[in-house]
Amino acid sequence: MYEIVLPNQPGYESLRHVYTATGSPAEILRPAADADVGDALRYARDTGLPLAIRSGGHGISSRATNDGGIVIDLGRLDEVERLDDRRVRVGAGARWGQVARRLHPWSLAISSGDSGDVGVGGLATAGGIGLLGRRFGLTIDHMTAAQVVTADGELRRASETENADLFWAVRGAGANVGIATSLEFRAAPLDLVAHASFAYAPSDLAEFLEAWGALLESAPREVSGFLYVFGGARPFAQATVVHASADERGANRSLETFTALPSLVSHRAVLAPYMSVVPVSGARHTGQQQVATRNGLFEHLDSPTSSLIAHGLQSGPFGMIQVRSLGGAINDVAPEATAFGHRHQNFHVTAVAGPSAVDLDAGWEPLAHLADGMYLSFQSEHSDSDLASAFPPPILERLRAVKSHWDPDRVFGQNFDVSVLSPSAA
Ligand SMILES: Cc1cc2nc3c(=O)[nH]c(=O)nc-3n(C[C@H](O)[C@H](O)[C@H](O)COP(=O)(O)OP(=O)(O)OC[C@H]3O[C@@H](n4cnc5c(N)ncnc54)[C@H](O)[C@@H]3O)c2cc1C
Repeated sequence: MYEIVLPNQPGYESLRHVYTATGSPAEILRPAADADVGDALRYARDTGLPLAIRSGGHGISSRATNDGGIVIDLGRLDEVERLDDRRVRVGAGARWGQVARRLHPWSLAISSGDSGDVGVGGLATAGGIGLLGRRFGLTIDHMTAAQVVTADGELRRASETENADLFWAVRGAGANVGIATSLEFRAAPLDLVAHASFAYAPSDLAEFLEAWGALLESAPREVSGFLYVFGGARPFAQATVVHASADERGANRSLETFTALPSLVSHRAVLAPYMSVVPVSGARHTGQQQVATRNGLFEHLDSPTSSLIAHGLQSGPFGMIQVRSLGGAINDVAPEATAFGHRHQNFHVTAVAGPSAVDLDAGWEPLAHLADGMYLSFQSEHSDSDLASAFPPPILERLRAVKSHWDPDRVFGQNFDVSVLSPSAA
């Protein structure tokens, strides 16, 4: 069974929009169990209307709502269940903050992202760059199995031994091959982490970014750090750094190095459960965060890269830059092991601007030349040629074959459709 929510019915207002966009879908379908999702999909296909798939509604590409189409909203599939010592099954509609809270009493954690409001389904089918990443890997690296409704409406189990090609594609390009209804993960044994915040007011932004990059690359793999930088006349940077263990002496040693960066304004560190790193706001979606973003992966924040970021912030269109750390356990995984094929870069950089920023592409272009790939989850709009940045050539080729097998009619073509041939690949 699935509930159908129509315009003018109670509940429609709180379901029609997502975090980054407003929408007016004709019907919102809300399955109550994994087994109902196939029926919802068959119904949606029969209407011939545009389709959107939604888990947490925090997708930056805003494809989880539409005007006049059908939305399959998985919000009711939010259970978190312990399967054995470390394995858990998580509904695609759960939020990562909720997952962290449920796992904490079992002394378990799964690296997700920096926002507890982000949904499991969208993040865990794309990658998952989180604040436990350098110690435990991407979110998809924890995944042991997925329940997926494929384009024919069948619910299938995917793992290393069942529908292995589907399992491979779900871990990095899941939106292309089906609707993940629940995911199984081998969670990390983790009780407390050292959770630190730092604020800096750098006088030389390029020099600061280069120093930040060097520090992160040399940090022990327990350390992951996300940096949020604002430009303007008086540049300002805020950092969240996690030392993913309760070893106080080790944490002190590594966190102290962040106080030595130039222009420190304030800092604080506490030992806390991982769930405090990803709090849930529970705010209703109203399209409140309409932004334009461009992103890229970088091996190093070297001098040319740092200078271009600083320039984009100080005299270009970037309102903010986010720098997420990669490396460590993320890069232990072979590039071909999952559909997320970027496994040697150390940084993910996102440029954020207002929704009507006309010069964002021009501002980002010089950085795009230095970038070594992109992460599809942080691109507010995308062109067909972005596929080649998101997926290295052998991965893209394999993805196209897997997609044509599982989704020959391109039912799941809303988000980075890999079957589209870019002009250079045509
Ligand atoms: C405030 C904020 C902070 C973020 N921080 C991070 C971060 O630190 N690290 C990181 O890696 N990412 C981060 N992201 C990006 C985030 O991972 C993606 O936007 C993700 O898609 C959101 O998941 P969702 O379920 O909430 O999205 P939704 O809006 O529900 O879905 C987004 C898209 O994913 C696909 N999709 C959704 N559910 C499913 C499913 N069950 N099966 C198959 N496809 C599905 C659909 O194409 C859908 O359009 C952040 C985003 C925001 C808005």
